[in-house]
Amino acid sequence: MKNILLLGATGSIGDSVLSVIEQNTNDLNLYGMTFNSNFSKAIQIAKKHSPNFIYTEDENCISELKRSLSDDSETLNGKFDLNSLIRNQNIDVIISAISGFAGLETTIIAAKTGKTILLANKESIVVAGDIILPLAKEHGTSIIPIDSEHNAIFQCLAGEMSTEDVSKIIITASGGPFLNKSLKDLVDVTKDQALKHPNWDMGSKISIDSATLVNKCLELIEAKYLFNLNESFFDLVVHPQSIVHSIVTYRDGSSICQMSNPNMQVPIAHALSDSRRLSINFSEIDFSSLNLSFSNFPEDRSRLVDIAREVCNFGGSSGTVFNASNEIAVKSFLENRIGFTDIYDVIYRTFEAIPMSNNLNIDSIYELDNESRMEAEKVVKSIT
Ligand code: NDP
Ligand code: MG
Repeated sequence: MKNILLLGATGSIGDSVLSVIEQNTNDLNLYGMTFNSNFSKAIQIAKKHSPNFIYTEDENCISELKRSLSDDSETLNGKFDLNSLIRNQNIDVIISAISGFAGLETTIIAAKTGKTILLANKESIVVAGDIILPLAKEHGTSIIPIDSEHNAIFQCLAGEMSTEDVSKIIITASGGPFLNKSLKDLVDVTKDQALKHPNWDMGSKISIDSATLVNKCLELIEAKYLFNLNESFFDLVVHPQSIVHSIVTYRDGSSICQMSNPNMQVPIAHALSDSRRLSINFSEIDFSSLNLSFSNFPEDRSRLVDIAREVCNFGGSSGTVFNASNEIAVKSFLENRIGFTDIYDVIYRTFEAIPMSNNLNIDSIYELDNESRMEAEKVVKSIT
């Protein structure tokens, strides 16, 4: 039996993880869960899975949870509780599925446990890949990606992180809801249009990232760190059907891809399986009606890709500035303070305004994140 700690249980990745657990109760157990504010969903999950521990920072939620739960789940809050929950000896697997920069703290604690991390929270790697990967190595912690593209690459590498014979890795992008639209077609798009992804049902932040294609740039940086390869190994290619989740080409000319219908349970089940395969309900690919297409990443987003490649090459503080400017831009768009294409402006102008530095530690990341958010806010205010 594998005991799982699910960080961000009430989110979209949380849903997929819980569904994989429900289909494999002989092998998988929800031992602990965390959430932020979605109390009613947390209660539903707790009643169904009876985790040993439930953590949230919100004091009011804690007393409410205690009143509502009749089983013996222990409710926790406060930094000390969170730390000891992540380090709890009975936990085998920690799933990092909090969205955005908020997932950094727990991913860093998890990296020091020597357990297995299933990583969805790509932002923590973008801002602190230079810290998290060495920490994980030092403590014998394995990081298995569950972002579908990275899990596909991991599967194509036959579950090994070795990339010696690799000549190219293609990261596929669905193109999001605005496939084939140029930037000038996107000036007036609404929040609802941007949130409506054609292939995936996800949380709001990553849905906007998919619509702007920033998600693919974050994923390029994530891939560079997870597979320890120079950015020049990675190509970004638009593949609207989201069937081929990524492709690894070896130096002998063989290209290996991982395919499935778009469903996050597939990479999650793989990552939870220890190279066996877990059974889940999935819809088979109908190969007879398959019509796959691949095309270049849109030219008018080349500046965005250049910034992501610069972050890969420079490392240091640059990922923090990129991520923070994007988080402020997405939040401002979701609050109807700026238009869709202004998101790019906020990123470009913030990235230009803050000088890059190689001097990186955990404290400086938090300071720089704060500084970048203030700078990005200034840009937002100058637009509105
Ligand atoms: P959601 O917005 O659906 O869920 C986010 C989760 O994080 C919720 O449980 C939320 O709690 C919790 N949370 C949010 N803010 C905080 C905070 N400040 N402190 C503690 N917990 C917090 O996001 P997704 O599930 O879509 O995405 C999660 C991560 O996985 C992201 O990094 C995303 O990029 C990545 N990912 C997601 C994919 C997907 O298909 N959704 C695919 C690949 C990667 P509450 O609900 O209680 O507020
Ligand atoms: Mg992805």
